[in-house]
Amino acid sequence: MGKIVEMDGDEMTRIIWKMIKDELLEPFVELNTEYYDLGLPHRDETNDMVSIEAGEAIKKYKVGVKCATITPNAQRVEEYNLKEMWKSPNGTIRAILDGTVFRAPVLVSGIKPSVRSWEKPITIARHAYGDVYKATEFRLEKPGKAELVFTSEDGEEKRATIYDFECGGVLQGMYNKDTSIRSFAHSCFKYAISTKQDLWFSTKDTISKQYDQTFKLIFQEIYENEYKEEFEKNGIEYFYTLIDDAVARVIRSKGGYIWACKNYDGDVMSDMVSTAFGSLAMMTSVLVSPDGNYEYEAAHGTVTRHYYRYLEGEKTSTNPVATIFAWTGALRKRGELDGNAELMDFAAKLEKASLDVIESGRMTKDLVGLWQGSQATALTTEEFIQAIRAELEKYI
Ligand code: NAP
Ligand code: MG
Repeated sequence: MGKIVEMDGDEMTRIIWKMIKDELLEPFVELNTEYYDLGLPHRDETNDMVSIEAGEAIKKYKVGVKCATITPNAQRVEEYNLKEMWKSPNGTIRAILDGTVFRAPVLVSGIKPSVRSWEKPITIARHAYGDVYKATEFRLEKPGKAELVFTSEDGEEKRATIYDFECGGVLQGMYNKDTSIRSFAHSCFKYAISTKQDLWFSTKDTISKQYDQTFKLIFQEIYENEYKEEFEKNGIEYFYTLIDDAVARVIRSKGGYIWACKNYDGDVMSDMVSTAFGSLAMMTSVLVSPDGNYEYEAAHGTVTRHYYRYLEGEKTSTNPVATIFAWTGALRKRGELDGNAELMDFAAKLEKASLDVIESGRMTKDLVGLWQGSQATALTTEEFIQAIRAELEKYI
């Protein structure tokens, strides 16, 4: 098997990471990973160089799998006695790979989405750069004139009045870059082909006639020139629509496609979609770079509350499914890139074993409340992973 970049993490998910490796992976496959410890103590020891090295390694080997990690805040600086408030490793890695994050729910029969028509997962692709997240804002306290000014490198000036304020108000300037929008588009088209799903893209170009229109045109141009043929070969579709129309269609749809959104839209819509599908613990996430590198992880964090209970000796019922699926995603992709059918088959079996256990009515506590089948039994994380192992052994 080719190399996978393995990035360990923090707290409860670090505990689960080891359980998954010990019980569900190493007894069955000869893992060939390059290990990076992104746990906060080691990031601190290496002055966070380890996050950069991990990102570079994904570029080299093309496939990575990451455990959830703590993004330090003031409280964490104290708790871990950190040298600095290190940046989020996800942000660091994303900056190196220049990718787009795709989030998709794991569906099980017995847990029905709140939206009755949804039968297949809906994957949200969020452009994670610029717009309101990098905006410059003023709160205005007195009347005056607001202008938008651009001075080009060669000294040419563009100027427009935004508004003549007769009272106080608010003002915001935001931007995006063609290079980033292009990367976003490439990642979306590539991921659609890789998962053989339709791609939807929505903005508000009727209102935002330059800004959103640019997104629409760049997607259209890249599609026509570089991906149209391959989409047709795979029997999938690219389709652009206004965001209001997209929302209406999404709610009426059966699912089974990728919905690409601008940064803010993706932030909001991914929370809506994941909540409607059920549990954060069942959301997977993959970062896809425009040149085809893949980093898989769970969408949830390190589950701190459970970890503190674990430290007090309690056996917690933390759901490992999204982390298991991060591993199977990486193994399947590795198999696909290397033409290793056996590895892809193992990934499918591990996923099936996990879902079979839940569908037999045995699950972690977070799912019990969502369960609509007959009788659910709540298991601890360890029991749940053991049950998956027993199931997996039947297929292997
Ligand atoms: P979180 O770890 O996602 O947990 C929030 C709550 O969601 C938990 O307390 C738990 O609810 C529930 N939950 C999440 N995952 C679960 C699972 N697998 N099984 C069962 N329940 C689950 O978010 P957080 O507490 O806001 O953040 C904790 C740390 O994670 C922070 O330091 C943050 O920086 C980090 N984080 C990392 C990533 C990442 O690496 N990608 C993403 C988000 C956050 P109950 O307590 O009610 O059971
Ligand atoms: Mg959000």
